[in-house]
Amino acid sequence: LYEAELERAHGQMLEEMQAMEDEKNRAIEEAFSRAQVEMRAVHENLAGVRTNLLTLQPALRTLTNDYNSLKRQVRDFPLLLQETLRSARSEIGQAIEEVNSANRELLRKYRRELQLRKKCHNELVRLKGNIRVFGRVRPITKEDGVGAEAASAVTFDADDDAVLHLSHKGKQVSFELDKVFPPKATQEDVFREVQALVTSCIDGYNVCIFAYGQTGAGKTYTMEGTAANPGINQRALRLLFAEVRGKAADWDYAISVSVAEIYNEALRDLLGKEPQEKLEIKLCPDGSRQLYVPGLTEFRVQSVEDINKVFELGHVNRATECTNLNERSSRSHALLIVTVRGLDRSTGLRTAGKLNLVDLAGSERVGRSGAEGSRLREAQHINKSLSALGDVIYALRSRQGHVPFRNSKLTYLLQDSLSGDSKTLMMVQVSPAEKNSSETLCSLKFAERVRSVELGPVSRKAELGSWPSQEQLE
Ligand code: ADP
Ligand code: MG
Repeated sequence: LYEAELERAHGQMLEEMQAMEDEKNRAIEEAFSRAQVEMRAVHENLAGVRTNLLTLQPALRTLTNDYNSLKRQVRDFPLLLQETLRSARSEIGQAIEEVNSANRELLRKYRRELQLRKKCHNELVRLKGNIRVFGRVRPITKEDGVGAEAASAVTFDADDDAVLHLSHKGKQVSFELDKVFPPKATQEDVFREVQALVTSCIDGYNVCIFAYGQTGAGKTYTMEGTAANPGINQRALRLLFAEVRGKAADWDYAISVSVAEIYNEALRDLLGKEPQEKLEIKLCPDGSRQLYVPGLTEFRVQSVEDINKVFELGHVNRATECTNLNERSSRSHALLIVTVRGLDRSTGLRTAGKLNLVDLAGSERVGRSGAEGSRLREAQHINKSLSALGDVIYALRSRQGHVPFRNSKLTYLLQDSLSGDSKTLMMVQVSPAEKNSSETLCSLKFAERVRSVELGPVSRKAELGSWPSQEQLE
């Protein structure tokens, strides 16, 4: 039994030992396979890391390269910048030089064109004659009255604006001038025809515009006009301002005006402090043979307000000088003298032109009607100075060697604006009324004779005879 028990216990022990052995083997196997799995995972990780490393290496290499080249560039940058700046500077300099030379060339061409324009302008004026004669017929007014006396004695030619016909004592007389303005012509129409003359004084020419005619024929209306409808004086100054402003980029201009009156052969300054003082006309002491009037006031004008002030002062002085302004103004010559001085800033060239706007004394024949005393003296002075003006224009147009400038104050004063390449316009004013027809005839005869003098070679002058005096004209 014991032995059997031992046997069984031994068997049991063996069994248990076997079971434990199995258990141990299984646990070992399990641990082994787990370790194997982990090992594999580690291996795989390692492989991943290795491939990562492999791909990182070239990236690092290019980064290093980039870094190095950047470092080089940064080191070279200031040099490069300097080089670029230098070349840009020289390119800009060259471009500026090119523009400059183009500008110089343009300026040269511009100056040549300017000279050419002046030459063409002169040629045009020469062809038309430096002395032009226009006629202006004023409308019939209330003052002309009513009935036959106030009927119009003047008719026009529909096809020719240089011709007008006057019926006088039952006969028709025709006159040809350079241009005739009928009553319906406006102040603008008249100014349009004279504005080229006005602007030429900017180029340094001397210009005279005269209004001639009997009292009441419209001289003052044409020259001064009314506030609402200004005449040549005001329009000329406005135009000069505008022209001068247009040239301000290259030129400096100064415009100044004097206002004077010639009454009984005495010259008076209407802008001066002593308008009653008689002024003398003198030769410049510098030997230039230019004339000047010591003491004649010159006002610098820059705007329309300035000229209005100047005209106002002139009127006030003229009115305080006499008892009846209307009478006085019909018996004296009123002068507005505009001087335009220019300086071309680029060349230093200087120009000086004078525009003389003259409202002449009435041309009616007062002397005939048995006037006496001061009235006769006035009439004689007017006759003398108007014939002197006719003589001078005649001598100039027929190119005579001697021009009798000194025969009157007016022609003497205007000598340098009537001679040489100066330009003159005679605006002959007439009244169309029947009752004025004999004065109108006289004025138109004056106009036609001034105009009809041939501009020919000097040798022809002997054939032309002499200019008739004012008395002969009458
Ligand atoms: P003058 O100065 O020759 O003596 P005015 O200029 O004083 O003559 O003219 C006389 C009158 O005729 C004025 O009342 C003026 O207004 C008028 N008159 C002259 N010309 C014209 C015209 N073209 N249109 C309208 N009215 C005019
Ligand atoms: Mg007048």
